Amino acid sequence: MQEYFAINKINEKFILSEQDNFHIERVLRMKNGDHIIVTYESKKYDCIIDFKNGLNVTYFCELEVSNELECEVTLIYGLPKKDKFEMVVQKSCELGVTSIVPFLAKRSIPVLDDKNTNKKLERWNMIAKEACEQSKRNELVKVVQPVKLKDLLNYKSELNLIAYEDLNCVGSSHLYSLLGNNPKSITIVVGPEGGFDKGEVDFLSENGFISVSLGKRILRSETAPLYMLSVIGFMNERNK
Ligand code: SAH
Repeated sequence: MQEYFAINKINEKFILSEQDNFHIERVLRMKNGDHIIVTYESKKYDCIIDFKNGLNVTYFCELEVSNELECEVTLIYGLPKKDKFEMVVQKSCELGVTSIVPFLAKRSIPVLDDKNTNKKLERWNMIAKEACEQSKRNELVKVVQPVKLKDLLNYKSELNLIAYEDLNCVGSSHLYSLLGNNPKSITIVVGPEGGFDKGEVDFLSENGFISVSLGKRILRSETAPLYMLSVIGFMNERNK
């Protein structure tokens, strides 16, 4: 059954976005009496739709469903080239990320300027909404305003990890070994295609971020976040 995030609830009625109303009426051509699932404030509801005076979405019953990880994951991602970021947004939502922080790293290829930042942010959040609806999430993932190095400290969690590919970095343990005590929230930082500048790693290490290895191979920038989220998701749900 098609799922949508509601933007408001008035008594028994849910309010959807204009785009979603259009999708239901004109793309899917749904009819009076059809059912959809609406997610609102992290809860899911089976709803009946009708088209008396425009689309009405009416509460039918609540669904006891939670498809979220029991660990909040904040992904800080060094902005890569072109549409790689969009692919990572989509796949990270499917893998259970909680929020995504675009990081203007030293080696990020400048894809943003004052003019296009808001447009890109709108597109990224649209991709996130669609991926969260498709993967039946209870939470809508937020892609926040891009940030510079110093602002990353505003996004710390109980456990803070920086995926550092420099195999010479002493004492870097594998990601897996740091997940043992089931942290309730994790922040993961991944670099752009060119990797991290040493100064970035030093700054984050001095502020409580632990360097982790993702294994012997050097993963592409867009592969690394998906690998990390897969390992975190597995560790979180393996006994469910
Ligand atoms: N500079 C690298 C490419 C960077 S890959 C090169 O030599 O080609 C982009 C990002 O992915 C890195 O900054 C790091 O955050 C992450 N990454 C890739 N492989 C990794 C590994 N084996 N261990 C830890 N992090 C890795």
